Amino acid sequence: MAERKYAFSWNLLGDLELGRPNLGPTTRLEVYRLMQFIFRDVIEQRFGTAEADAIFYEAGKLAGCHFYQNIFGHITDFHEFVKSLQSVFKDMGIGILRIEKADLEAGSFILTVSEDLDCSGLPELNYEICVYDEGFIAGLMESFTGKCFKVKEIDCWCTGDRTCRFTAELIKG
Ligand SMILES: [Zn+2]
Repeated sequence: MAERKYAFSWNLLGDLELGRPNLGPTTRLEVYRLMQFIFRDVIEQRFGTAEADAIFYEAGKLAGCHFYQNIFGHITDFHEFVKSLQSVFKDMGIGILRIEKADLEAGSFILTVSEDLDCSGLPELNYEICVYDEGFIAGLMESFTGKCFKVKEIDCWCTGDRTCRFTAELIKG
């Protein structure tokens, strides 16, 4: 692709104080979910299920990288990073983040997100749906560590677990 029209930049999120003096920076969650699940429907129809998942993971990862750069870029200590992630996730209404396992040396983590932005309250579907979140967490982890991670959701509201649980494993080699 010679010239990009839509390369993301944080500026695209806009000046909300200027642009939304009456409505403010929040919207109803249904609107966010409507957009996410409609995108996934259309992408799957056009490119198939596997490609739709790959696109969602990649998009989540790019979002995670930008999110990291713009909010956590100055942090070098892991515990400070986790604390800061927890408070930002809560303040922005993304979810309630907990770390169940953090083996920094092995690069092996388990984390949970309750009241997750993407899936809490959805009907049970027999599959984990938070592929965008997997990518988002991978983007955060990779940005912080400078190493590659594979993130997989192993429990989800949609599989009856009432919290989303993710493994994050360092990709070695
Ligand atoms: Zn989930």
